[in-house]
Amino acid sequence: MELLKWKVIKKELLKELKCILEDVERPLGLAIIQVGDNEASDIYIRQKNKMADELGFYFRHFKLDENIKEEDLIKIIDDLNNDDKIDGILVQMPIPKHLDPKRIQNCISHYKDVDGLTDFNAGCLMHNEDCLIPCTPEGIMDLLEYYDIPVEGKNVTIVGRSDLVGKPLASLMTNNNATVTLCHSKTKNLKLFTTNADILVVAVGKAKLIKEDFVKDGAVVIDVGINRDENGKICGDVDFENVKEKVSYITPVPGGVGQMTVAELARNTFKAYYLRKSLND
Ligand code: NAP
Repeated sequence: MELLKWKVIKKELLKELKCILEDVERPLGLAIIQVGDNEASDIYIRQKNKMADELGFYFRHFKLDENIKEEDLIKIIDDLNNDDKIDGILVQMPIPKHLDPKRIQNCISHYKDVDGLTDFNAGCLMHNEDCLIPCTPEGIMDLLEYYDIPVEGKNVTIVGRSDLVGKPLASLMTNNNATVTLCHSKTKNLKLFTTNADILVVAVGKAKLIKEDFVKDGAVVIDVGINRDENGKICGDVDFENVKEKVSYITPVPGGVGQMTVAELARNTFKAYYLRKSLND
């Protein structure tokens, strides 16, 4: 068994990006909008802020009142859409219940949609056209490529169908000629699909859901989940200790999936800058 390390992807990405940024004439601009107070969001935004500082980005963090009206939030997004110094915009989820996340996300210009969550970018990804892709699935593809694990012709089972991870990953895998099965909470006999997988990706958010008997011998297992176990320790969706001896490769949790995602965000910000620049040239 070999461990797949997200940290190497983060390192590679940041090295590549630092080189590219030397030739960019102005700091890249990244704006993060947070609505209300949420401890986890504070942590994620701090990580993004740190990355932005390291790369010399022009970073703006809008922390808005939890009772903000939808139209007022949309006005802020619109101003950022029209701000030439801003290349990427993201709205940190979750947002309060009175706001419609789909509507809010679709107000972001698709050229600045660094989370890849607008319907435009989701549609482009499905049609295998160049676009801004959600960071975590993109990182998973980079991880497999870095470790020379081909996906073409492989049976790939993805557990979890969120817009952020499972669905875009299913498109990426399909576009790269894998045979994809996408499972979710209504899937009957989950084990039937997971044990058929050459590559198993789990993004559910349930501690140790995937046990040893859910995994085929020699499979590649990618665990995206971040949970706390019964002792309060961070763990993934895969029962790592019992699964690890059975597989060829596995990602440990904790192991930096969040850090890798943040590095992919930096790359998406550059891509967004480049896409807009190509339009104006
Ligand atoms: P999400 O939006 O809550 O989606 C969870 C998915 O899992 C849903 O599709 C749900 O099915 C499915 N599911 C729930 N219970 C299941 C079960 N018993 N069997 C099979 N499928 C089941 O979650 P997410 O945003 O994709 O995140 C998933 C996990 O990854 C979380 O632990 C999150 O913290 C982590 N994550 C980490 C990063 C990072 O960069 N560090 C990024 C994203 C996510 P339904 O669709 O039927 O409800």
